[in-house]
Amino acid sequence: MNQPTPDTAAALINDPTPARVSELLTQIDARLDQAYSNFDRLNRDRIDCKPGCSHCCHRVVPAQIPDVIRVAEHIRSTFTEDQLAELKQRLNDYERAVAPNFGRDLHKLRPTCPLLVNNLCSVYEARPIRCRGIFSADANACEQAKLHPESKAFPALAERQQIAFAAWTNLEEGIKKGAKSGGAYDFGRALKIAIENPEAVQEWLAGEDSFGEAFATPPVQESPPAPVRPGQPKYLPGTEPTGRFDIAGLALPQYIMSREGNFQKALDLAQGDHPGYWLWQIRLPMTYSSEAEVLEWRDYYRKAIDRFKERKWDPREAYDGLAAYCPQSLSYQQFNNREILEELGALTFKITSEALPDLTAPIEGKRREGKIRVGYISRSLRHSSCSPWGLGWLKNHGPEFETYAFHMGDVVDRTTEQFRQAADHFYHLPPGQPVPNQAQLIRSQDLDALIFLDVGVNTGTAQFDALRLARVQCAAWGGPETTGLPTMDYYLSSELMEDPTGDEEYSEKLIRLPGIGVCFLREKLRPSTLFKSDFGLGDEPLYLSTQPPLKLAPQWDELYRRINEATGQPISFIDRKRTASQKVWDRMERNGVKIRLLPLLNIHDYFGLIKLADVVLDSPGWNGGITTIQTLTMGTPVVTLPTELKRGRHSLAMLQASNAPGLVARDIDDYVDLVANVDRRRSVVANIDPNGLYEDMRPVRALEDFLKSVLT
Ligand code: SF4
Ligand code: SF4
Repeated sequence: MNQPTPDTAAALINDPTPARVSELLTQIDARLDQAYSNFDRLNRDRIDCKPGCSHCCHRVVPAQIPDVIRVAEHIRSTFTEDQLAELKQRLNDYERAVAPNFGRDLHKLRPTCPLLVNNLCSVYEARPIRCRGIFSADANACEQAKLHPESKAFPALAERQQIAFAAWTNLEEGIKKGAKSGGAYDFGRALKIAIENPEAVQEWLAGEDSFGEAFATPPVQESPPAPVRPGQPKYLPGTEPTGRFDIAGLALPQYIMSREGNFQKALDLAQGDHPGYWLWQIRLPMTYSSEAEVLEWRDYYRKAIDRFKERKWDPREAYDGLAAYCPQSLSYQQFNNREILEELGALTFKITSEALPDLTAPIEGKRREGKIRVGYISRSLRHSSCSPWGLGWLKNHGPEFETYAFHMGDVVDRTTEQFRQAADHFYHLPPGQPVPNQAQLIRSQDLDALIFLDVGVNTGTAQFDALRLARVQCAAWGGPETTGLPTMDYYLSSELMEDPTGDEEYSEKLIRLPGIGVCFLREKLRPSTLFKSDFGLGDEPLYLSTQPPLKLAPQWDELYRRINEATGQPISFIDRKRTASQKVWDRMERNGVKIRLLPLLNIHDYFGLIKLADVVLDSPGWNGGITTIQTLTMGTPVVTLPTELKRGRHSLAMLQASNAPGLVARDIDDYVDLVANVDRRRSVVANIDPNGLYEDMRPVRALEDFLKSVLT
């Protein structure tokens, strides 16, 4: 069933209502029951299920939102007030039981389903699709699965499950066609939202992600990939480059580096007879044990560049190898990297221009008459911190502009849809296709300007960065610093972020757009309503850092230690286990910083945590960006200490724009005092006005004026 049946699609596309969704689910149930009845008739002797047997109701049920809507409607129409009050209590208990997992590894939990009453399902007729698929030949095995979740899964009759799976897939296709948020949700948590906040149902039907906090995150890969050593093909003379480098051989080193934090071991494993391996060696650890280690690896980095330059390589193979290259690790060292990035930019351009001379040549001649054609390109035109802010520029261009959006990533979500709808022309060019063909398609649009929203952030984009795809090419602040690329003409930044000497940081010509430089679109933040105890916290003040450990450079440990001393409290950090974080926590503890680690959260629980915080500590050297805006929007103060380079001045700009300059520290002493001194903070917090961060049209108009000035 790859296509939704007409009734499924229609119910979710054409003016959907809760009643229509319920009706749809009833129809799906009727079809399921029909399919099951044949199976059950033939297998009566094999089935052990009976009323009162309920081991399988002690688990997290994966459900789709239409399922949840139907059960909520059923409850509203059949439960008495007393039953509803009891259900609400059970929903609260359920949330307390699953909350510490924050949407992860839910298959390992055995909470009692909030709809189970006296060992019977209280919504049996309306129970979710997944529950309808669960039937077992062995109730004892079910009981063992309930008692031993770590080692045993619930048994199931595969044939019945397949029928339920087909119905699920069909519904999922309908959800996708109806442009709604799909996927598997924690049924209990989603039902709690639907019962307590009926508005969320209407919002979901209108295309919003209103059940996000109940999303059931799929399990992450826990074991390293098997080592692979594919033979790398050598091109025959005259063979066209494919723009694809088989990076299978780098999966294990990548895992070792990012998950285990063992950078040297990763380098030792990433050896091969192909320029892709040699380019991969030009990288740095993601985290450091000390300031001395930072300098040691910086020295290694320079030598790795020299080694690559001394080798002989086929430019087409080297170009394919750029697929695995990314300079972002350099930015975490928090130095001015202009000189190194220019060297790397020249190298990337040499490789690209020798492999694809036609796609790197300047675009000569006058621009075509008519509207100014401006494109936006990123691997992340989706929910991310890299580029969604670019939507405000694109969406608000005046009638003299014709807009293009190029999404180069494989993930497509609601943010991608917003770009698709806002742009006059939208192209999805996912990885895996020959890059030269994709580049040719972009260049053939005859763009006047192309804005690269996040150069140097994602692996896989380097093959595009040194191409000449438009008359004027700009980098923007999704990339943390200068690109160093000779093909990038301008860097679009913010007047509030750049200090007077900012121009010296960039190989591009620096353009200071007004305010924070972007037109940040208003978004509805949906903090979940968890309590401090759900996060394992007590009632003491919460000093929170939300930035990834990669940004916590060793030279700032002293600052955090002094905050411990001044407040008498540990600092809470979020432990992203996938980013070599343990090295940072070990280092901090060695340096006397008292830390408390919180798990990685889904976005809504993350917002909920921020709301509970007394103060959020911005990471000096490389600040938060969108996270600072979101934190201030929720009324939680962010304390920052601006440093010299732009990436250490994001929050300075945002605090100025939100009428909270009093949270900008002058020096380390002042930072510590701002965190510890509640009275001092209180007066500033009362005046925070996040409106200044949103929908500022001045940067859009200034961007347009700038483009007109260089194009006409
Ligand atoms: S699936 Fe297992 S626990 Fe559930 S009713 Fe059937 S036999 Fe009982
Ligand atoms: S919804 Fe009903 S059948 Fe499904 S787990 Fe809950 S109580 Fe059991």
